[in-house]
Amino acid sequence: MFKKILIANRGEIALRIQRACREMGIQSVVVYSQADRDAKYVKLADEAVCIGPAPSSASYLNMPAIIATAEVTDAEAVHPGYGFLSENADFAERVERSGFVFIGPTPDSIRLMGDKVTAKQTMIKAGVPCVPGSEGALPEDPKEAIRIARQIGYPVIIKASGGGGGRGMRVVHTEAALTHAVQTTRAEAQGAFGNPAVYMEKFLEHPRHVEIQVLADTQKNAVWLGERDCSMQRRHQKIIEEAPAPGIARRAIERIGDRCAAACKKMGYRGAGTFEFLYEDGEFYFIEMNTRVQVEHPVTEWVTGIDIVQAQIRVAAGEKLPFTQRQIQMRGHAIECRINAEDPYKFTPSPGRITVWHPPGGPGVRVDSHAYANYVVPPNYDSMIGKIIVHGDTREQALARMRTALSETVVEGIHTNVPLHRELMADAKFIEGGTSIHYLEHWLSQRKR
Ligand code: ADP
Repeated sequence: MFKKILIANRGEIALRIQRACREMGIQSVVVYSQADRDAKYVKLADEAVCIGPAPSSASYLNMPAIIATAEVTDAEAVHPGYGFLSENADFAERVERSGFVFIGPTPDSIRLMGDKVTAKQTMIKAGVPCVPGSEGALPEDPKEAIRIARQIGYPVIIKASGGGGGRGMRVVHTEAALTHAVQTTRAEAQGAFGNPAVYMEKFLEHPRHVEIQVLADTQKNAVWLGERDCSMQRRHQKIIEEAPAPGIARRAIERIGDRCAAACKKMGYRGAGTFEFLYEDGEFYFIEMNTRVQVEHPVTEWVTGIDIVQAQIRVAAGEKLPFTQRQIQMRGHAIECRINAEDPYKFTPSPGRITVWHPPGGPGVRVDSHAYANYVVPPNYDSMIGKIIVHGDTREQALARMRTALSETVVEGIHTNVPLHRELMADAKFIEGGTSIHYLEHWLSQRKR
């Protein structure tokens, strides 16, 4: 096992990884920007190294500074967390070429899944069902696009092969609008991602977002750890996640989970990963794979009892997965609410000093957060300041625990979306379960203040 790991991230996930290391008796080094000097994980760190000024381009995305820090601190491995460099194949390659272990998949896997066209082609070959659409990137000839769209049926969605973070997508409802939409998306994709390739899919009108967590080792073992329902989204950003997905037959989930694990074996995938699907009318459609730990990993940890971050570290060190698929048991129901420093009505970011901080507690409540009273939320990064996760024997109990937890939560000095979560936990449709990815936006447009 490693003696020392460098954590190339910030915020709650830096603290989460630090905790995993500490429990395993591994020393950790955190890198931080000048804006994160007073963060909790920096204060708690075995070693902490400032790698640059606040803008991420100069700090958390600064590959030479991160690799140099690993060198001077004698770290053996680098954990990239999520976001920042976690899905950057060049970074993974540079880490490995400098003689460190990258805690994640191979650069080739990251590259393959980072391009949505090659990812989809790989999944089709591995027998994972995908949204009906163009076979690969759309050809230049507009007539071809029209022919493909007719075959799929409107509405269709044009997506950038290099896209991410909900950007580079356009829905098209009529043939008259198609050619222009393809051209515009192509131009945008070239500008934003340096890759003009676009592809076409059937636009699903009321899907749910259901994803499968996988874990694979370097000895060709791969398992799936159940599913998560992440349909509660605003602007393609998840804000509530839960496991299991309410109302979907276990047999259907098992079938898709087995496909994902088989695909991992076929690709030679290693580490943790997530297969994201849209689920509509009883069918699953692959949309993309994330080759890193996800924000919402705790709900899976709670229903399976498996520490995903520790498992990532173990397989990166070459250990075999300590369990088989049959040994993985799901128990109860878990829900996560992402706590963002933002106005709960207008969603404008709300950085600044937290004057009062009372996180919730009690049975079945977990809080993953780097915040504390007097902590200053910097304006430079993502607005998420923590996550409240609850577990119960049933979904009903988990919902009740989340309501209690949110009622105990007090954050003053900045605005947070806690009031929004309180409203959603009392919403009849959400309580019923199974809402589509458009539900929250629709709900917000009807919301009364
Ligand atoms: P990104 O990498 O930018 O997150 P995804 O391919 O994961 O892109 O898609 C992001 C979101 O866009 C999905 O969660 C879903 O809300 C919507 N979306 C993507 N593809 C489709 C589709 N074929 N039909 C309907 N909605 C889609």
